[in-house]
Amino acid sequence: FNTAPAQWEVDDLVSHVVAKIVFSTGPQKPFDYLVPEPLVAEAIAGRRMRVPFGRGDRLVQGYCVEVAAKQIVPGKLKSIYEVVDDVTLLSRTMLDLTHWMADYYLCPWGQVLDAVVPAAVRGNAGTREVTLLSVPRETAMQLATLKLPAKQHAALSILAGASRPMTPPELANAAGCTQAPIMALRKKKLVQVEIRRISFAHFDDEPAEAEPPKELNPDQTAALRTILNAVEEERHQSVLLHGVTGSGKTEVYLQAIQKVVAAGKQAIVLVPEISLTPQTKHRFRARFSQIALLHSHMNDVERHWQWKRIASGHIPVVVGARSAIFAPTPRLGMIILDEEHESSFKQDTSPRYHARDVAAWRAAHEHAPLILGSATPSLESWRQTQAGEMTLVSMPRRVNDYPLPDVKTIDLRIDRKSQGRGAISRQLYQAIKRTIEEDGQMILLLNRRGYATHIQCPACGEKVVCPECEIPLTHHLADNVAICHYCDYRRPAPKSCPACDYTGIHFFGYGTQKLEAEVKARFPGVECLRMDSDTMKKPGSHEAALDRFRRGDAKILVGTQMIAKGLDFPNVTLVGVINADTALHFPDVRAGERTFQLITQVAGRTGRGHKGGQVLVQTLSPDHPAIEAATRHDYSLFAERELPFREKFHFSPFAKMVRLVARAEVASAPEAMLEEFAKQMVKVAEDLDLAIFLQGPAAAPIEKLRGQYRFHLLIKSHDGEKLREAVKLVAAKTKTPDDVIWTIDVDPVDM
Ligand code: ADP
Ligand code: ZN
Repeated sequence: FNTAPAQWEVDDLVSHVVAKIVFSTGPQKPFDYLVPEPLVAEAIAGRRMRVPFGRGDRLVQGYCVEVAAKQIVPGKLKSIYEVVDDVTLLSRTMLDLTHWMADYYLCPWGQVLDAVVPAAVRGNAGTREVTLLSVPRETAMQLATLKLPAKQHAALSILAGASRPMTPPELANAAGCTQAPIMALRKKKLVQVEIRRISFAHFDDEPAEAEPPKELNPDQTAALRTILNAVEEERHQSVLLHGVTGSGKTEVYLQAIQKVVAAGKQAIVLVPEISLTPQTKHRFRARFSQIALLHSHMNDVERHWQWKRIASGHIPVVVGARSAIFAPTPRLGMIILDEEHESSFKQDTSPRYHARDVAAWRAAHEHAPLILGSATPSLESWRQTQAGEMTLVSMPRRVNDYPLPDVKTIDLRIDRKSQGRGAISRQLYQAIKRTIEEDGQMILLLNRRGYATHIQCPACGEKVVCPECEIPLTHHLADNVAICHYCDYRRPAPKSCPACDYTGIHFFGYGTQKLEAEVKARFPGVECLRMDSDTMKKPGSHEAALDRFRRGDAKILVGTQMIAKGLDFPNVTLVGVINADTALHFPDVRAGERTFQLITQVAGRTGRGHKGGQVLVQTLSPDHPAIEAATRHDYSLFAERELPFREKFHFSPFAKMVRLVARAEVASAPEAMLEEFAKQMVKVAEDLDLAIFLQGPAAAPIEKLRGQYRFHLLIKSHDGEKLREAVKLVAAKTKTPDDVIWTIDVDPVDM
C-alpha cells in the first residue's frame, strides 16, 4: 500500500473554472461554485450571479469576488445558474477594498459590498430591457424563396433591409401589421432575438460661467508645490493642509485637481454633506466642465447615471459626501478630504467605516496622493504628521491679509444680572445693535433646535420626558408640540403638569426657535432667518435660505451647527455663540475637541471681507482649555494640552479603540452580556499576550432609546491588529442572549 501512483490522483482532479460567491445576507463565508462552459466569458469577478443554495437549491443572488481555474474533484460543487450583471460593478481593487473593510470593521463582507455599490446601481435604475430583432444572414439570403404568409413576408423583408435591429413595436409599425405575424416569425426562428439593457436617463450639467484660476499667494503656492510633488512622484503620499478659516484651501485643491485632470486622471473630493452648498458646487463647476456632484437629494436614476459616467472614466472630477469615496474611478489620481475632522465622515450604521481611512486605503493601493484639509485637524491626523507618516503644510494667514477675527468670551457667570432678559447678554446685544447700525450682517449660533429645551413643573418638580427614551422633551412652537430629539416621539405641549395638574408648568432653556423669537422681539424690523433641521426639511430650502442671506435680505442668521461651517459671506462682521458649553459636558473623550472645532469654525465665518469681524462667545466656562485655545485661534495650543491626556488614558490617536453597544428592553440583559464579553476579552488578550484597557460596561450616554436600555463597553489597546483579532475571537464565541441586539464599532467617533 501507499504506492498509488501520483498519476492516478491527478486524473481525478480536473481543472475547472471556479467562482467565489459572497452573499449580502445569510451565510457570511464565501462559497465556491463551478462556472459552466457557456458562462465562462461573462463570469467575471465583480458581477453578481444567481446560484442554487441550500438543500432545496433555491436560487439566490450573490457577488462574485473571485474567478480562478482550480483543480477540483468533479461533482463536489454546484454550478452557477446565471450571471446577473452585464457590467462589472467592482474592479479588482474595489473588491480588495471591500475585503479589507469587512476585515477591519469586523462586519460581514456582503454588507460592505451592498454599501459600496449604490442601490441605484444594483437596481439598474433608469434602464430597461428591450427586445431587439434582426434577420440572420442565411435567412436574408433565402428571403425570396421562403414560403410565408404575405404579412410575415413583408415584415421579414423590412427587418432584413433595416440598418439596425428593431424592437417588435417598431417593426409592427414599419410593416403596418399587428404583433401576430412578428410572433410567428419568432416562433419559426426566422428572426434573431436579443435582449439588451438600455439606459433612458440623461441629465444636463448645470451650466456655470467659467472662472480662471486665481493667482496664488506665497502660502498657497508653497502648499500647492508640496502637493504637486506628491502627484509627480506618482506614489502614495498623504498631506495634511492645515489652513486657518479663509486661508484659501479650496483654491489650492482646485489648482491641484487641474494638474491631475491635465495628466488624464480622476480626482475624488469629499466634503461634509452640509458643505455641499450652492457656493461649493458653483466653485467647482466654474473650474471644471466635466464634473459629477453627488448629493443625498439625488434620485436613483441620476445616481446610476452618474455612477456610469464616472466608471466610464469620462468624468475627471467627483465631488460628494462620505459615500463618494466609493466612486468607481478607473484612473484615480488624487483624493481630497475637505474638513477632514468632520464626524460625518464616519458612518453610524454597519459597515461603520470612516471615509478618511477608506480614502487612505484607496490612495495607498491606487498610488494616488491623499490630501486632508482643515482649520481644525482631527488629532488622529495631527498625530500622524508628528510621527512623520504625513506631510504637514500650514497656511496660517487669511487671503488678502484679512486678519483673523477678534474673539472674546462673555462670562455668563458674572454677567448674570445683565443677562436677565433671555439668551442674549448685554454685551452681545450692544454688538448686534452696532452691527445693524453699520449695515453689517451677523450669525448667531445655538446648537439646539426647538423652542424650549425642557419642560418642568415648578410645583412638584416633574419633568416631561419621552416615555421611550426618558429624555426631556423639547418644546416646538410651530404646532405647540413636545418632541423627543432622539426618537421623534411627539405629544401636544402640556398645559398643566401631567403629575400634579399645576397649571403654571414651565418651559425652560433655549432652542433656536426661542432665540429667533427673542431676536425678533428685541430688534423689531430687522430681518432674521433661521436655519436648522426643522426649517430645512424641503430639498432646496437650504440653498434658498443661503441665497436670501447672501443678497442681504436678512441681516441676522440664527441656526444650529449647520451654519457654523464652510459659509463664505464677506459682509458678516459679527458672530455670536449663544452657549459654547452645549457640547462641552458630554461624557465623550472628544467633547473638548468638538467644542474647539465648533467655535473655531463658526468664528471663521466672520471677517472674510475688508470690514473685519468680531466674535462673542457666551460661556459658563471661559477658562476651559478648548474654549481658551479657540479664542486665540491656536490649534497647536489645543493639541498640546489635549494629546497628553489622550496618551495617559490610552485613547485615540495613541491607542486603537473598539466600542460595543448592547441594547434590550430590560436593562440587566445587555449589561450582563457585555460583562461576559469583557471577561472573555481579558482571557483572550492574555492568550495573545496583548495589553488591553477596558472601560465599562456602563450605561451609554443615551441610556434609553426607543424603549431600549443601552450599555456600552470600550476596549482599547496599542496594537490595533491584535485587538481586532481578539474582539473577533470573542465575538465569534459570544452567545447572544434573547432580545439583546449588539453592535461592534471599530475606531468609534461618538462615545
Ligand atoms: P478656506 O477654504 O481656507 O476657508 P476659501 O478657499 O473659501 O478658504 O477662500 C476664502 C476666500 O478667498 C474665497 O472667497 C476665495 O475665492 C478667496 N481666495 C482664495 N484664494 C485667493 C487668492 N489667491 N487671491 C484672491 N482671493 C482668493
Ligand atoms: Zn424618545
